[in-house]
Amino acid sequence: MEKKTHVACANIIAIGLVKPNNISSLLITCGFASLGGLLPDVDLKDSTTDRLFDRLMASLITVIAMNFFLKYFLDIDIYEKIKELNIIFNYLISVFIFIIMGYLGSKFSHRSFTHSILGCFVYTLILSYGFNNNILIPFLCGYISHIILDLLNKKGVALFYPSKYRFCLNLCESNGKTNKLLFIIFSFINILLLILISTEIIWQIKKIVYNL
Ligand SMILES: [Zn+2]
Repeated sequence: MEKKTHVACANIIAIGLVKPNNISSLLITCGFASLGGLLPDVDLKDSTTDRLFDRLMASLITVIAMNFFLKYFLDIDIYEKIKELNIIFNYLISVFIFIIMGYLGSKFSHRSFTHSILGCFVYTLILSYGFNNNILIPFLCGYISHIILDLLNKKGVALFYPSKYRFCLNLCESNGKTNKLLFIIFSFINILLLILISTEIIWQIKKIVYNL
């Protein structure tokens, strides 16, 4: 499936499960559902996710090099200073490891580790170190929906990696007519959900304003 189909499907499931009741919750839900929906294709050479993690890894190496430079030449240890901030320390460690594992995921063959139950477990576990269910649930919705959609394709998915056996339902091609039809259906459902949610959010804002 194309990335837009994965994102559209991920958002439907995440919005349906989380039922966000304000704008920030809606943005977080859609953002992390999209991340989960796109991450497995980091193993697809030159995909959007592959390029994103290349850049993130380059940024991470720059930050580590800067910390090394500041520590040994100016005696300033940013790592120790961040460690003192307990609240964001776990969050940063989680993000750093996630970037490294995302980058390493791009080195596997297409539809192997990152499209497996093991891959889904590893990435969710890393995120769980610094984030709560508000982020983990949409992320998982995106990740699992990506694997299920890819199972419909002719090219198999190594669901139980490291086992090399590939599962597929052989129903469609990744960029064929079924993909286009699914994208239209998912987009339509997304629009309906967004209308329903915005009506609810507007109603709640009105309630707060009139109670003031
Ligand atoms: Zn995929």
